[in-house]
Amino acid sequence: MTSETGSKPAESKPKETVRVSCQNCLRETNHDVLAEFANKNYLEEPDITFFNVYQVVRCRGCERVSFRYANWSDNEQDEYGDPVVLVDLYPYRLAGTKMMDGLRNLPDDVRRVY
Ligand SMILES: [Zn+2]
Repeated sequence: MTSETGSKPAESKPKETVRVSCQNCLRETNHDVLAEFANKNYLEEPDITFFNVYQVVRCRGCERVSFRYANWSDNEQDEYGDPVVLVDLYPYRLAGTKMMDGLRNLPDDVRRVY
């Protein structure tokens, strides 16, 4: 036991928001980021760094919770020199039947937030 006073889990972090299309609102809305995990992988041979961001997000309109996965590498850039970011959303937009399948594959830490 150490004297860790005042250290709170994720909720004490400053709130971050992302624009995500909401299945319920049927349009792009602001989502609060409830939890976030980021990492990166470095490949020495081609000298590429891959970035991964995993987020649990909640719609500010209807409070529906989704899972957002964004990934990019410093190898792929658009014509402005910005990284090309690929974003996956769970449950899949326009499908809507995959939610439980997606949840089962989430890491334990993320699932606890639900
Ligand atoms: Zn919504």
